[in-house]
Amino acid sequence: MAHELDIVPATEWGFFTLPRPMCIAGPCSAETEEQVLETAKGLHDFGIHVFRAGIWKPRTHPGSFEGVGSKGLKWLKKVKEQYGMQVSTEVASEKHVLECIKYGVDLLWIGARTSANPFLMQEIADALEGTDIPVLVKNPVNPDIDLWIGALERLNRAGIRKLGVIHRGFSTSAPIPYRNDPGWKLAVELRTRYPQLAFFADPSHMAGSRKYLLELSQRAMDLGLDGLMVESHCNPDCAWSDAKQQLTPPDLKTMLESLIIRDNTSENEAYKEGIDALRARIDVIDENLLKLLKERMDVSRSIGEYKREHNVAIIQAGRWEQLLSDMVERAAALGISEQAITAIMTAIHDESVRVQNEVLEKN
Ligand code: PEP
Ligand code: MN
Repeated sequence: MAHELDIVPATEWGFFTLPRPMCIAGPCSAETEEQVLETAKGLHDFGIHVFRAGIWKPRTHPGSFEGVGSKGLKWLKKVKEQYGMQVSTEVASEKHVLECIKYGVDLLWIGARTSANPFLMQEIADALEGTDIPVLVKNPVNPDIDLWIGALERLNRAGIRKLGVIHRGFSTSAPIPYRNDPGWKLAVELRTRYPQLAFFADPSHMAGSRKYLLELSQRAMDLGLDGLMVESHCNPDCAWSDAKQQLTPPDLKTMLESLIIRDNTSENEAYKEGIDALRARIDVIDENLLKLLKERMDVSRSIGEYKREHNVAIIQAGRWEQLLSDMVERAAALGISEQAITAIMTAIHDESVRVQNEVLEKN
């Protein structure tokens, strides 16, 4: 089922400027007034307009630094007054929302542990009703697109139309170099379903380490995402949380300047003709693929009928494994990856089994 969202694009919120990337930067956590103001100054000096700082921190272990709490909101207010920046922080409860409204926080984000929790999302949505504060929703820690969309829907139903998302990757136990699995596929899927939704990537929490920030930010830009939320601290090595992944403001400036920003599209006439011709070829191939798939399904149905007449089970041990390994080998010779052909053939095979079952169930 398609879930509609009624969205105001980020370019109309009044504080993000183009060209891409729209940028939100600031420390993982507000620690002291001095640290907040010094970092904000460093960022403001090279044109960052939107500041972030966590005030209430969701930490894995109790006893870790869990944020300075409401007093940090006064420091954010100073950032607004001294540098004219917009300020943002993470909210995870009704109390957080009410405090942020009281102190004039300009933008809120929902953390990955909170967007995974429908009870908390509803509590936050109810507290926001009647305001028009922009809200960015991070992906839930687990790769569940419906949970992510559900969180957006709850806010949207409460009247929040300045909505966007932040892709920060997913928890994983797989051995990967990053702190979180980038799982870009899910981001692309959400982007395709809701092209109007402001789309940020958070390379800091995805990477977990400074050294991967550039490659992950570049990837986000290559996928056409609108912006980046990046952690930046005036003295990263001494940060009270996420020390390894934060950049000084000058290093963030260098990183942003190294990004290659490709156009999402081109108005050039020759480009348009070229891309139209290539797309026309793809359309013809897809049409043929559909016909072939239909033909294959018809044969599957006949096989189902034949098996039924001879009282033979649908799944024949060994046949599918053999077919798949032959296809993997042939695909490799054509330069098609094992992963791709396995996914395609598995989908076709599943449908084939379903069709044959349908034949059996008719009797
Ligand atoms: C954060 O942005 O500081 C944070 C805690 O991120 P996440 O919710 O993505 O883990
Ligand atoms: Mn952090």
